[in-house]
Amino acid sequence: MEKFDLLVVGAGSGGVRAARIAASHGARVGIIEERFLGGTCVNVGCVPKKLFSYAAHYASDFEDARNYGWQLQPADFDWPTLRDNKNAEIARLNGIYGGLLERAGVSLIEGHGEFRDSRHVAVGNTVYEADNILIAVGGWPHFPDVPGIEHAISSNEIFYLDKLPKRAVVVGGGYIATEFASILHGLGVSVTQLYRRDLFLRGFDQEVREVLAEEMRKSGVDIRFNEDCVSIVKNADKTLALTLKSGATLATDLLLYATGRRPLIENLGLENTAVNLTDSGTVAVNELFETDDPGIFALGDVTGGYELTPVALAEGHALADRLFSNGSGLVDYDFVPTAIFSHPNVATVGFSEEEARERFKNIKVFKSGFKHLRHTLSGRDARTFMKLIVNAADDRVVGAHMVGDDAGELIQGLAIAIKAGATKAVFDSTIGIHPSAAEEFVTMRSAV
Ligand code: NDP
Repeated sequence: MEKFDLLVVGAGSGGVRAARIAASHGARVGIIEERFLGGTCVNVGCVPKKLFSYAAHYASDFEDARNYGWQLQPADFDWPTLRDNKNAEIARLNGIYGGLLERAGVSLIEGHGEFRDSRHVAVGNTVYEADNILIAVGGWPHFPDVPGIEHAISSNEIFYLDKLPKRAVVVGGGYIATEFASILHGLGVSVTQLYRRDLFLRGFDQEVREVLAEEMRKSGVDIRFNEDCVSIVKNADKTLALTLKSGATLATDLLLYATGRRPLIENLGLENTAVNLTDSGTVAVNELFETDDPGIFALGDVTGGYELTPVALAEGHALADRLFSNGSGLVDYDFVPTAIFSHPNVATVGFSEEEARERFKNIKVFKSGFKHLRHTLSGRDARTFMKLIVNAADDRVVGAHMVGDDAGELIQGLAIAIKAGATKAVFDSTIGIHPSAAEEFVTMRSAV
């Protein structure tokens, strides 16, 4: 029986990082994967989504170019070209992941892993033994129980459509729904987004959510809040007839459900171990990623938490360093920045205004809403919005939020300053880069 120091179940972001780092510390490592190397992020998540987002941006770029003097024919979009080029790029990345594992000396075991007991995992008829086993199997799209839900697709399928629909309905108000409402709209699809409460992106800064809804609506996405789909019927011509909570009906060619993801732990054999689940069904772990079964660890999406690739990478790295080197095993979750690649982008780090009001006695809020220089000529009716939250007690900036072009790129830099404890005085004494949108973050002088 093959024996490892570390056996990783799941070759996504967190699992591959843990495997590679453990192997670099001299551990004998095996990694089990039943689908594709790189997990959700590389195959049906972050990477292909961002490529699609770039594709969708060209639509507005072509329009904006006219007032800059460019004479363009009406642009024609060919979906199969985008899909197939994206597929080729993802296949290349899968190969890179395979190469990384191979060069690190990690044994790749292809197939479905199932725990036999706390030290043994079977893949088909072969059983592997390990002193340490890491569950890094990630999550899977979750569909609510709606009559006709089998006619809906998830983010797993949207990346491989045979053809682009004319009309799409997107259900959900989180990252995936909002990003895909923007992407599909940009690619020329007529999009309706349905969200069950009064404003999408629950948990983000209220004003940021309001500005994004307004900007997306201005661009032409039909966003309906306090609305949901209650039944789905497939017509003979393959179109879908939706009945909504309000009683309204909608006809569509494609229905995308992006209503959250659940841990992918079915048939993992966890019942043969002492691993326990939380009330929300994620694998229960402590801050060192230890489950209730000594020697079995879990990290990344399967444990709930942030469900962000860079967080899973940090967790995988920390665990490998602790088990096979002298790392503390802890991950610092303070000020994790995040972006929603909607059009326009939203990016944020730190506390929302609402959270900061609860957390700190006294806060100062600085904001700026303006027309990006680029759109003074393009003529596009688009506004950029920025907001800083400052803890009045020590002048530290504890939140930065932005809705606008390249917000994801811009907030990453601010995240470093905020994590380093920058005060508003430091922001104020920083010289701006002119002309840029980013300089607004160092020129907001009056609190509102
Ligand atoms: P989210 O948890 O972000 O959003 C799920 C959405 O679906 C919420 O708006 C939720 O509403 C709604 N919802 C849940 N259940 C139902 C239901 N039964 N009926 C109707 N609506 C429902 O999940 P996503 O699927 O969008 O994404 C999963 C995770 O992947 C994200 O949390 C994020 O961490 C990660 N991700 C990150 C990205 C990035 O970094 N850019 C991009 C894409 C995904 P409510 O608010 O009422 O709960």
